[in-house]
Amino acid sequence: MNATCVEERGCVCEYTEQSESLTLKAVRLAEGLEQSVKAIVVGADQNLGDLEMEVERQSREFQRAATQKAAQTKADLTPPVCPVCHKPLSQTSGGHERTFESRFGAIRIERKRGYCKRCKKWRFPADHALGLEETAGYSPRVQEMAALLASKMPVEEASAVMEHLTGVKMPRATMDREAKRQGERARRLREQMDEQACQGLAKAVQPEMVLEPYQMIIQMDAWNIRERDGWGQTERLRRVGQEPERWHWVYMGTCFRLNQRGKTAGGRAVISERGFVATRAGIDALRQQLHAEAMRRGLGQAAGVLVIADGAVWIWRLADDRFPQARQRLDYYHAVQHLAAVGRSLFGEDKDKLRDWLRPLVKQLKNQSAIKVIHQLEEILGTIPAGTARVEATKEINYLREHQDRMDYRTGSRRGEPIGSGAIESTCRQAQCRFKRPGQYWSQRGDEALLCLEMFWRNNRWYLLFPHNRHFDLSKN
Ligand SMILES: [Zn+2]
Repeated sequence: MNATCVEERGCVCEYTEQSESLTLKAVRLAEGLEQSVKAIVVGADQNLGDLEMEVERQSREFQRAATQKAAQTKADLTPPVCPVCHKPLSQTSGGHERTFESRFGAIRIERKRGYCKRCKKWRFPADHALGLEETAGYSPRVQEMAALLASKMPVEEASAVMEHLTGVKMPRATMDREAKRQGERARRLREQMDEQACQGLAKAVQPEMVLEPYQMIIQMDAWNIRERDGWGQTERLRRVGQEPERWHWVYMGTCFRLNQRGKTAGGRAVISERGFVATRAGIDALRQQLHAEAMRRGLGQAAGVLVIADGAVWIWRLADDRFPQARQRLDYYHAVQHLAAVGRSLFGEDKDKLRDWLRPLVKQLKNQSAIKVIHQLEEILGTIPAGTARVEATKEINYLREHQDRMDYRTGSRRGEPIGSGAIESTCRQAQCRFKRPGQYWSQRGDEALLCLEMFWRNNRWYLLFPHNRHFDLSKN
């Protein structure tokens, strides 16, 4: 409060009072800090970490007050217009309080309320301007933190980590709800974006287009997740012979342009810009999402498309159906595994013999022709006496024959293309670390929401969900 202002003008306008109290707060903060850090500066057992904690602790109230003041000013400046249909509101009244949790603690603002005759609803335009959801009591920054942490770790950990690192308290159940709500929002946004991408309107998302010819590489794989429904009904379900849990497939895909592959100092191939999709809503959902992602990453302009994956039947069906122009390649390591399986049916547990037999064939497979290798295997098959070993070997040789047109590794290597689907396999492994922990169960809706959040993060599109953090660039991380 400024006494001069009261005497001279006979009134204290809200803005002056708050701004001055903020200035005073800043002065008090600086003085307080100087005092409190003295003890740490001379303390033999305290280091920079203690200084950081102390400054953070003391500044929090100032940051909270500054945020509250600015939020109130923004609320006051918001015109009484419906945020949905943009019509002026009627029966407006002011002074409606709302308290919510911000990055720096609880904030209280007053805002106007009005009735929208068109929407037939009471509206608080300031809530919309501030990015406050209708029901949740958290600021956009806190919403973002909850979404990010819960998509990276189980909520019980996420809640503790958030409080430990930022001082923001959010109970587990609330964090779970908040993350799922954000995930749902992400899912709706993805649907919109996918629709636009399929109509060729995706330029807004990825405006830069390289005009030199490039190959687009697409890889797919799947892993399973444990879900359950019917919480609290386990006994009832078991009585009627049903288990409340079941396993479900999570389908993943990745796509990238070949000219985006570089090499690390050690010569390992790295891919700088990759698109990811993950869904537990079935193969059709993957087909749709992967096609949209590939479109966003420049499928329409690609000189050629190459699909690389293991031997799963659904993958090649999807590839034939959605990417009919694409060349197909069986993951090299899967091919080698099947080759080794033929060897095991010949030599059993004799590892030395197996290795000596396998080495030239693997070399041929990689540097010459798969058909040549298969012919040799067929000749060998004739020498195996009838029995289990022969049945096994036949099965493996049939597998290789089925995929022989997908095993042109020599051309792949010469062109500098990947011959394995390691990129998607490592992505699946990373996702499983999050979604497949012991004792973890998921619900179908919850899975899809969290997977969707994770994909926004991986695709470096987090800013589309939380535009206040638009300067963060994951690819530079
Ligand atoms: Zn309206």
